Amino acid sequence: MSAYQVVIIGSGPGGYVAAIRSAQLGFKTAIIEKYSTLGGTCLNVGCIPSKALLDSSEHFFNAKHNFEAHGIALENLKADLSKMVERKAQVVKQTCEGVSYLMKKNKIDVFQGKGSFIDATHIEITAENGEKQTITAEKVIIATGSKPNYFPGMEPDKKRIITSTEALILQEIPKRMIVIGGGVIGLELGSVYARLGTAIDVVEFAPQILPTMDLALGKEMQKTLKKEGFSFHTEHKVTGVKNVGEKVVLTATNKQGETINLEADYCLVAVGRKPYTEGLGLEKIGITCNEKGQIPVNDHLQTTVPNIYAIGDVVRGAMLAHKAEEEGVFVAEHLAGQKPHLNYNLIPGVVYTWPEVASVGKTEEELKTMGVPYKAGNFPYKALGRARASMDLAGFVKILAHAETDEVLGVHILGARAADMIMEAVVAMEYRASAEDIARISHPHPTYTEAVREAALDATAKRALHI
Ligand code: FAD
Ligand code: NAD
Repeated sequence: MSAYQVVIIGSGPGGYVAAIRSAQLGFKTAIIEKYSTLGGTCLNVGCIPSKALLDSSEHFFNAKHNFEAHGIALENLKADLSKMVERKAQVVKQTCEGVSYLMKKNKIDVFQGKGSFIDATHIEITAENGEKQTITAEKVIIATGSKPNYFPGMEPDKKRIITSTEALILQEIPKRMIVIGGGVIGLELGSVYARLGTAIDVVEFAPQILPTMDLALGKEMQKTLKKEGFSFHTEHKVTGVKNVGEKVVLTATNKQGETINLEADYCLVAVGRKPYTEGLGLEKIGITCNEKGQIPVNDHLQTTVPNIYAIGDVVRGAMLAHKAEEEGVFVAEHLAGQKPHLNYNLIPGVVYTWPEVASVGKTEEELKTMGVPYKAGNFPYKALGRARASMDLAGFVKILAHAETDEVLGVHILGARAADMIMEAVVAMEYRASAEDIARISHPHPTYTEAVREAALDATAKRALHI
């Protein structure tokens, strides 16, 4: 029986990064993955494939709608979805192979099969062909991730009523698509198809889309996406979705109690994800999941069983790849006796629509609820020379700073390249910068980052220069 110091169950960004860091720290390490490719949700059916399709569809959208204004004329423009999906598959393949290479490089043993606890130190692995083997582990890190969630009446049949996984492999551009949930997946995958010409109906339970982010972001995003072919039905409760052959029919009730019916070729269910622990045998080791299905952990990400840790989507907190990675590093370093640090307040969130949305720290609504005195600074993209040059005029940077100390408490950006720009805010906030600190740093001209400086000037002393 093979014996390891650290065994990780699940090879998503949490699991494979935990394995690499454990091996770097000198632990004899193994990783167990039930699928034949490594990388988990993120690499196989999440972050990477969705961004690949977002990039392809963005090229098509720009060629169709924006090139002409730049003096570029195209004829017979056509979107070939099969080719886009094939390119995406290649990107996924290369990225997953990269993880396999990293496992080899770090001398991590990879077991393909479903891992299940026999007891706290013995794990049984069942391969696809049914063969079983058992390995032993001094420490175990559970990184089994999550699966798409749904509510009664909207059960995906994976044919016409689909989850994000099927939405990444459609072979035809739908004429109409209903998206239940105006969150991250709904807007990203909705954008892919809207850019290819699909009419998108978003049915959202909350009063606006992106309800958990700073509300200014969703409000502006809603306006922008309407121009791309989105319709929004906010404050609507879905009562049922049916596959009626060639199409789907959805019924929902609005705030006034009126019923609406929507028809489309497909309905994408994107109402969040749920932690995945099926078949892990948690009952055999006395771990009980909470009401959200998460594995309870303490500040060291240790479960109620002392030698077993859990990270990523299967525990509390944002369901994000970089959060899972940080937790993987954290646990490995903790096991090595180090004192790692993880600032959950500074895990940035990004929505890869165009314009992009990116956020870090507290939202204005959170500061109000917490009773923290704050001041807000804003700067619109349309006042930037860079934005006029690229014609990316939509968006703004919003900075929230403490009213008395000027410390930056939250930064929220909607606009071109917001995903990359947010890192300036994360670094500044990690070092507890004030809005004035950011305002006094030279920002290259002409760049979108000038909007960060201007918003900081606005926050610190209401003295933006270019508006
Ligand atoms: P996962 O990536 O879910 O990996 C868990 C792995 O464990 C899986 O491979 C699973 O097969 C395996 N496993 C489960 N049980 C067992 C078992 N018993 N034995 C062996 N193996 C097992 N996040 C971002 O930060 N940025 C993005 O742009 C982004 N885009 C996304 C787009 C989509 C469409 C989706 C669905 C998600 C996206 N996410 C994104 C979220 C991100 O994918 C997750 O937060 C991340 O993958 C979580 O990592 P994890 O390691 O916890 O789990
Ligand atoms: P989400 O939590 O982002 O959005 C779900 C949306 O569905 C919310 O707006 C919610 O109000 C709405 N909703 C919930 N129940 C509903 C109902 N019954 N009817 C109508 N609307 C309802 O979840 P998601 O978009 O499914 O994404 C799942 C997870 O994956 C998220 O936690 C996200 O962090 C992660 N993810 C991240 C990225 C990224 O980082 N760019 C991309 C995709 C997914």
